[in-house]
Amino acid sequence: MPRQSKDYYAILGVSRDASQEDIKKAYKKLVKQWHPDLHPDNKKEAEEKFKEIQEAYEVLSDPQKKAMYDRFGYVGETEFAQQSSGGPFEDVFRDFESFFGRDVFDIFFGERGSEERQQTRRRSGEDISVTVEVDFAESLTGKQIPIEYDRYEKCEHCNGQGVEPGSGYQTCPRCHGTGVIREERRSIFGVFVSTRTCNTCGGTGKVVKEKCHICGGTGRVKKRIRTTVNIPAGVSDGTRLRIEGAGNAGYNGGSYGDLYVIVHVKPDKRFRRQEDDIYIDVTIDYVQAILGTTIKLDLPTGGSTMLRIPAGTQPGSIFRLKGEGAPSIRTGKRGDLYVTVNVRIPQSVSSEEAKLLKELARIRGTDI
Ligand SMILES: [Zn+2]
Ligand SMILES: [Zn+2]
Repeated sequence: MPRQSKDYYAILGVSRDASQEDIKKAYKKLVKQWHPDLHPDNKKEAEEKFKEIQEAYEVLSDPQKKAMYDRFGYVGETEFAQQSSGGPFEDVFRDFESFFGRDVFDIFFGERGSEERQQTRRRSGEDISVTVEVDFAESLTGKQIPIEYDRYEKCEHCNGQGVEPGSGYQTCPRCHGTGVIREERRSIFGVFVSTRTCNTCGGTGKVVKEKCHICGGTGRVKKRIRTTVNIPAGVSDGTRLRIEGAGNAGYNGGSYGDLYVIVHVKPDKRFRRQEDDIYIDVTIDYVQAILGTTIKLDLPTGGSTMLRIPAGTQPGSIFRLKGEGAPSIRTGKRGDLYVTVNVRIPQSVSSEEAKLLKELARIRGTDI
């Protein structure tokens, strides 16, 4: 028998072409607003409204039911009956849990609510991490890097619930629907009876009739992901980039975990990075240090520039090239490049050079 036709869109206050996201948003807002506990003065009205909102959401959030409703203006009674012991109500339970936190949830739904929750508790998926490697120069300019990793995605066949669509629930065969296991132990002192929560059904008294044949009841399926990550300019060795929601699917419809991309920067023999400044050593000849010169200097981002070394440069002198360091990963502002000049003193000289040096010593009045 069909239910009396109601305008579910009007109840949730969304348009007919609203997205699933919008429907969910509207539902969450309303269900929070009309929670009967928040309306002690007109609890009855709130309860009515609350039920109506649930019903509307149950239909509009389910693509199959929504299609049926859009076409016929109602959803068949049997459709509801099939799921009323499992899916939609627990959805509401879980939503409440996240709105009001555990305490309120337990007060409102009592002991049973908390048992219900154990079996079908929504849990977020695990985070995943992958490591990528970039050259030193790439760490300064940024790079798109292809990555591949395995993750669990929500099983589309059962919408992450692990239940074969249309299967529903049946009485737990272990505890016969009581949710508890009774144990009797006989001893010389008499019979001891103890009870504990049934772990086949988690205390709910119900088990899934048929597990989803695609995911085997886990609600998740493994998938190989091939994508690219944008490594921003300025990363340093060990930088962790978080990509929200790119980790494993949650349990029982819980949210996705995150993906952490850990960046390994290959060291470069020439350059050292400290904060956003970069250091390089160059070596010039002692004659160059005395007379001055211009040298070709490698730049951290690749390429080179000409650096003028003035006459009389002392060993260990440091030159600063402003803005030639690493960009800050946060602000993009670039640090500086510091060039330390070493002066090479020849370990041996030719006889001709020695003759000239002795002549120099004489001119300078230097004792040798
Ligand atoms: Zn059981
Ligand atoms: Zn499945």
